Amino acid sequence: MTLTIAVDGPAASGKGTIGRALAARFGLGYLDTGLLYRAVGRRMLDGEDPVAAARALRAADLEAEGLRGPEAAEAASKVAAIPEVRAALVDFQRAFATREGGAVLDGRDIGTVICPDAPVKLFVTAAAETRAARRFRELAAGGHATSFDEVLADIRARDARDAGRTDAPMCAAGDAVRIDTTELDVAAAVTRAVAEVEARHPGCGAG
Ligand code: C5P
Repeated sequence: MTLTIAVDGPAASGKGTIGRALAARFGLGYLDTGLLYRAVGRRMLDGEDPVAAARALRAADLEAEGLRGPEAAEAASKVAAIPEVRAALVDFQRAFATREGGAVLDGRDIGTVICPDAPVKLFVTAAAETRAARRFRELAAGGHATSFDEVLADIRARDARDAGRTDAPMCAAGDAVRIDTTELDVAAAVTRAVAEVEARHPGCGAG
């Protein structure tokens, strides 16, 4: 059976780090679905209609400059509230999820909407202050001029928008395992996630 792992959670919770580590550990493909929304957000900032941009999205758009920055993140969370944008991105994500060899997808609605039948679902969280501190360190290391308070306010605004939208709001699937990384370092969080996968999908631990 193809193994699909859904990893959802808010910004800077550690879901990307966990998702990438699981993909490497179990030999699965990895898709950061936030990049799809960031790419559409970027094109909206460049003056394009977001629905048309989502419908025309190509893999090469995911390599665009600046997608990891705060401007693209905020634009992503705005376009992500538009149902037609979400609908345009479903097929690509589902095709990736069912690719031969298995896949890990990280996002906000993978376990609830994109892959509701995924055999393993994780919901990764952490306190907003902890997430803001992580993101602040990343941004500062990348040369972005910002303050901790600004990053915290952005994270809170994005959480509220992502959890409050009508279509596919960010939330844990009923059968998702919650991993709170507030007190966990990367190694401990990954160990915990690997153990959850092995418990739910016996037989994939050999890879
Ligand atoms: O994960 P990342 O922070 O890159 O996501 C950027 C934004 O894209 C999120 O704040 C959210 O609004 C949106 N998103 C989403 N559904 C996903 C992945 C991301 O709505 N599956």
